[in-house]
Amino acid sequence: MAATIFSGAAVALVLSGLSLCGAARAETLDCADGVFSISAESGDVAAATCTAATSALTALAECGLEPSRRVAISVVDVPMHPQLGACLGFFDTRAECIEAADPGHYAALLAEGDARHDLPVDIVLRGVVAHEVTHALAAQNADVAMIAPAEHEFVASVFEMNAYGEEARAALLAADPVRPKGSRGMVNSGIYAMAPRVFANNAWQLFQTAEDGCALIRDFLRLDGPPPSE
Ligand SMILES: [Zn+2]
Repeated sequence: MAATIFSGAAVALVLSGLSLCGAARAETLDCADGVFSISAESGDVAAATCTAATSALTALAECGLEPSRRVAISVVDVPMHPQLGACLGFFDTRAECIEAADPGHYAALLAEGDARHDLPVDIVLRGVVAHEVTHALAAQNADVAMIAPAEHEFVASVFEMNAYGEEARAALLAADPVRPKGSRGMVNSGIYAMAPRVFANNAWQLFQTAEDGCALIRDFLRLDGPPPSE
């Protein structure tokens, strides 16, 4: 039984007897971080995915979320979820692998009105990969069955927004404005499904205006106490 967590415009649990992640592609790359192995059609995309995944690990470690197992990332033209269809990416909790879209297909996969249409694809890639890597690390650190889908998406959205960097993040926040301090009431599956960029912007504002953003993350993941490094 595989529980699959989406980064698309919907949240679902999916049952599957098979790994959902794509077969090996032309280029494979074991990242120097010792955690990720990338499969992609081009070496450049594999390298960019590796860089994005490793950067996400660094950000997650700041909140005490450390990897304990390897994660495979398959970059395919169009990640195809068996229930919800084409999406930017997903994490398969059973096989502990990620399938992510090739940047050449972002324009077709992004919903109409998604402000990421106006961002360079290499920046979008950083966010897409960080989002799915966060789902993977959350599954390695927390009891995922204890956490509601919207809470998973909150945590993934925070690290996704972090990965875009200040300039792109400001553009996204301007395109879909939310309350400056965010709202806990907007961390729900309805907002995520109907207005995913509003959901992500709200998650970021809650995180970055919190007295302790990592404590907020750990609270959503039901992790007790401060990060182990403190
Ligand atoms: Zn997600």
